[in-house]
Amino acid sequence: MMEEKEKKCPICGCEHIGKGTQYSYGKMFPLDKVFSKGSEVIAEICTDCGYIVSMRVKDPHDFK
Ligand SMILES: [Zn+2]
Repeated sequence: MMEEKEKKCPICGCEHIGKGTQYSYGKMFPLDKVFSKGSEVIAEICTDCGYIVSMRVKDPHDFK
């Protein structure tokens, strides 16, 4: 597994970044694939000010 470098919030400088995931309502679907099951969105959130540092889908290949 690749080592992730320490993330820092660009807004408040806080280094405590928490991970969150969105289920059902927050699911991301490819626009052109009607039958896709969609993908969960994984977010990294600053635990101090709530800024979302990064957001990505769990199954990016679905969006190709
Ligand atoms: Zn912050």
